[in-house]
This record gives sequence, structure tokens and C-alpha cells, in this order.
Amino acid sequence: MDSDKYIIIHYAEIALKGNNRGFFEDALRHNIEKALKREGIKFLLKKISGRFVVQLDEEEKDYEKISGILKNVIGIAHFSYAVKSPCEIESIKDAAMSLLKTKNFNTFRLSAVRSDKKFPLTSQQLNEVVGEHIVKNSDKKVSLKNFDVEVVIEITDRDAFLYVEKEGCIGGLPVGVSGKVVSLISGGIDSPVSSFYAMKRGCNVVFVHFHSFPYTGIESIEKIKNIVKILNKFQFRSKIYLVPFADLQSEIFVNTAGNFEKFRVVLYRRFMLRLAEKISEMEKAQALITGDAIGQVASQTLENIKTISGVCGIPILRPLIGFDKEEIINKAKEIGTYEISILPHCDTCTRFMPKHPATRANVETVKEIEENLDVDKLVEDAIKRAEILEI
Ligand code: ATP
Ligand code: MG
Repeated sequence: MDSDKYIIIHYAEIALKGNNRGFFEDALRHNIEKALKREGIKFLLKKISGRFVVQLDEEEKDYEKISGILKNVIGIAHFSYAVKSPCEIESIKDAAMSLLKTKNFNTFRLSAVRSDKKFPLTSQQLNEVVGEHIVKNSDKKVSLKNFDVEVVIEITDRDAFLYVEKEGCIGGLPVGVSGKVVSLISGGIDSPVSSFYAMKRGCNVVFVHFHSFPYTGIESIEKIKNIVKILNKFQFRSKIYLVPFADLQSEIFVNTAGNFEKFRVVLYRRFMLRLAEKISEMEKAQALITGDAIGQVASQTLENIKTISGVCGIPILRPLIGFDKEEIINKAKEIGTYEISILPHCDTCTRFMPKHPATRANVETVKEIEENLDVDKLVEDAIKRAEILEI
């Protein structure tokens, strides 16, 4: 019996989804296999009684690395390194003893779960029989409430698996099962986090970034690439549309002198959404994702969100809408994008920004300004010059 060569992987939510269950399980299985294989891990994966069992190759010993990989697979609720035993009571007792030999503790409790109801003992009986065996053969004590370790025994229709530690994971739905979205990603803190949340709900994310090259440097684009590289740990590979925005911005700039200056940000955003919608058509994506949160900055008041959203026929999803900045920052640190996001960059070029952006841009005024612009042509020109990167 080798103590750490099996990993029991549990998924919570996808078990609930009725007819979709098989589809979701296949996607999760595929994503787990892909994640382990791209790091060169050798293993066998089987689905047994509503969970996945990964059997690691003899030579695999870097458990920290393997845990790190699994923790980034969206759709896993938790996993555990386990020992395997035949579904016979004497073997299970031995397995429990050998598992506990390596752990340092005084009190324990047993929690048996039976997926195979043909097993001759109930979960409670199994807890009692194995518990008694441990107490008799060691100096450990049972404590149902204040225990040092919880020994889980999972009876599947093939084998029994025993473990003591659960590693909590991201949860969510496997990337890919919900379809495709286009996420507007800037170099800031918020949009990588909103992209992550779209992935967490099973979306495959295509990225679009608007840059003001040559007014902004090539570093801004490097920054986006580096952020997307980090997000790839959740979805493996990504496509980025890099859309030139400087011409469009200067066109808006010259048409918004004087009193209209304050509408610039809202106008830029309307064009970003128009362009993103075009890309969503090309990509057959179902929705756009942005990193807006109500009231966070001047362009994100409800009035402005309404005026900005009006240009789009496709749903615009805003996963961070109710988040405080601090919550977003904590999440960015957790997923690993924060350190890159805070590097200095020129956000779609500050030279085009008004001193005091409108906080209540009404749609009539904005439309009036747009009447002086050749909206369709500006959109078409920018799309034509977009570059596509695969990361
Ligand atoms: P972030 O931290 O994501 O940049 P923010 O708080 O700075 O957000 P804004 O700059 O007002 O807010 O942008 C709101 C949202 O608009 C962003 O979260 C992003 O989805 C989108 N966006 C803004 N600038 C760009 C850009 N240059 N390219 C692509 N999307 C952008
Ligand atoms: Mg920004």
C-alpha cells in the first residue's frame, strides 16, 4: 500500500446539473488531464462513483507541485491524497492504521461515506468498527467534536479510499462548459479579476485590449500579455485582440472641445463596446465582460453605465459590479495578477483624458456628439487593423 499515490478529486456543483452532468464531467476530466500533462506529470485518471481518482506514477513525488496544479483547475471543489484498499473490512482497518502511522495527532474521528450501498456495513457501523480497531492498536482517542484529524473513508463501487486532509480549491464550473465570452482587458487591477470570474463560471474567455500606440509604449502591450499568461493557468490558452485606439481617440478628442470635453471617457467606452461586440460576432461569443464596479471611478456611475451600454446588442456582464476595491485587490493577489497590474502603465493614454469626466453623461448629448463622427467607419478601420495574438 503506497500512501500518497492516489488523489481523490471531488466536484460539488457540477453534480447538481441534471442532464448536463456527463458533459460537465467530461470537460472537467479533460481540463484536469491537460493541466497535469502540460507540467509533465505521469498519471492515470479514472472516474469512480461520482469522483475522479488520479493514480500517480511511482516516480511522481513532488506533491506540492501537483497540489499547485490541481488548485488552479476550475470545477474541482476539493481533493485529497489517499490510500487505497479493497472494500473489505480487515483491509480497511489495516489501511487506516498505515495512513495514521505517518500523522502526528492525539484525537480523531471517522467519517465514512458509501457510494456503494452494497457494502455490508452502514457508514456508522464502519466508523465504529474501524474506530475501535484504531483505539485498540494505538494510544489515540476518538473525539467527535474536538478532533485533531478527521479520517475519511470513501467506499466506492470498486475500492475504498482513506485520507485525512482535504485541499480546498476554486470550485466553479469547468472552463468551456458555459460557452465563449469576450473580455475587455486593460492594464488595471479590475479586468483580470473580472475575466477570472467569467472563467470560474465555465466561460472560455477571448481577450480584447485597446491600445493607444504610438502614444503609449510597447510596455503596455507586454503587460497585457503577461497578465493573460497568468490567467492561462485557468484556461490553458488564450487569444488576445489588440485593437489600435489612438486614431479613434484623437477623432473624438477634436470633436469634443470646450463644453463637450467631459464626455470623452463615455465616448471612448461606447466605442470600446462597439468594437468588442464586433469581435464577439467574429468569435461567436455570447457576451462581453468588463471590470466595472458601481461608483468606483467617474465613468462607472449608473447613469454612465446606462449610456455606455446602450450601443450594444449583446449582453454586457460585469462580474465585479458589487465589489469593493479592497475585495478586488485581494482576489487579484490570490490569482496572481496584482503584481503585474500595479506596474506603471499609460491607461489608453492619459493625454486624451478630460480633467473632469462627466459623472452623468446623458445619452442625448453623447449621441449629438457622435452625429459628427463617422461611427461605422471608425469602428471598421480599427477592427481591420486589430492584431490577434495566441498565448
Ligand atoms: P481596470 O482596473 O480593469 O482598468 P478601472 O477601474 O481602471 O478598471 P476603467 O478604466 O473605467 O476602470 O475601465 C472600466 C472597464 O473598461 C475595465 O475594467 C475594462 O473592462 C474596460 N477597459 C478600460 N480600458 C480598456 C482598454 N484599454 N482595453 C480594454 N478594455 C478596457
Ligand atoms: Mg482602467
